[in-house]
Formats: sequence, C-alpha cells, structure tokens
Amino acid sequence: MRTVDTYYTRPMSPPWSKPLDVDRLSEAVADIDFAVPLAELPRLRSQLASVEGEVRGHVHFGRKAGVAVAELTMNGTARLVCQRCLEAMELPVEATARVGLVAAEADVSRVPEDLEPVLAREGRISVGELVEEELLLTLPIVPLHAEGDACVVAPSAPLVTDEREVETQRPFERLDELFKRDR
Ligand SMILES: [Zn+2]
Repeated sequence: MRTVDTYYTRPMSPPWSKPLDVDRLSEAVADIDFAVPLAELPRLRSQLASVEGEVRGHVHFGRKAGVAVAELTMNGTARLVCQRCLEAMELPVEATARVGLVAAEADVSRVPEDLEPVLAREGRISVGELVEEELLLTLPIVPLHAEGDACVVAPSAPLVTDEREVETQRPFERLDELFKRDR
C-alpha cells in the first residue's frame, strides 16, 4: 500500500497575515510590499454583504515623537454587491494613510495630530489589519452603483447625458470626500 505525503500541500499562512513587531520595524525603518485579497479580511467581510478583489501596496515604517509610524499606500479594486440591484459592482481603491501605532488605547493621546491612531495590541499588527483598518474607512458601508451606472432595477431617474461624470468622476469623487474627512 502506498502512502501519500500531504505535508507539502499544506497552505502556508500568507505573509500579510502575520503579526509584526511594530517597534522593531519602525526602528529598522522597514519597507514591506503586499498584496491582500479583500475576501480574507474578517472585519471587512462582516461589515459588507460581499467583498472580493485585491489591493496591492507598500508600508513604510518609521518613528515620530516616539511613536511608531506606518505610511500605507495601496491601490486596487473592490468587487462589491450593489445594495439597490444586488448585482456586482467594482469600486477603485486608491488610498494613502499615515498611521500612528500604539500598543494600548491609553497611549492614543501620544499620537501626533497629523497621524491616524491605530491600535497595535501588545505592539503587534499585521499588514492585513492595517489595510483592513483603512478599507473600513474608505469603502462605503452600503455600496451602490453610481448614478447612471448599470443598476439593473434603476429607478426612473432621468438619464444623465454628461458621460464624463457618469463613467469616471463619481466613484473617485466619493473616495476623495472620505479622504478629506479622515485626514
Ligand atoms: Zn445597482
């Protein structure tokens, strides 16, 4: 009888899911590239009815005023389900964030004002958690096709004739508004 070796087929946990030592990375001024599938982010998945797609980007670690800083740049596409027509829709994701990482909620007041405080429990956080934190701020809780987009059960709204606005401006406009609010 033959035995089958299954060990080599066991999937390894992806690098973006590993908790990282924030102090060590910030002192080393480390750089990390990542690609994160959105469907594997648990908090994002519990907030949105359906989420797929991927973001790719880069985290640069450093320090400011004694606080560990992560500069996050990412872009990609979120594939969501429109909550009006329940059909698929895509939303471009393009975000940058400067985050101050603290080990406990009591330390949030130490984070310089121009940084967004994020909790890294016990001084650890994964790239996936950083990305997820940012996506929770930027993606709409109730995704909807932009006006004029192909909403299957579109209400009897008048057809918009300005194609520029219809095709590309809307999703970006919306993200920009969100960025302004959070920066
Ligand atoms: Zn729709």
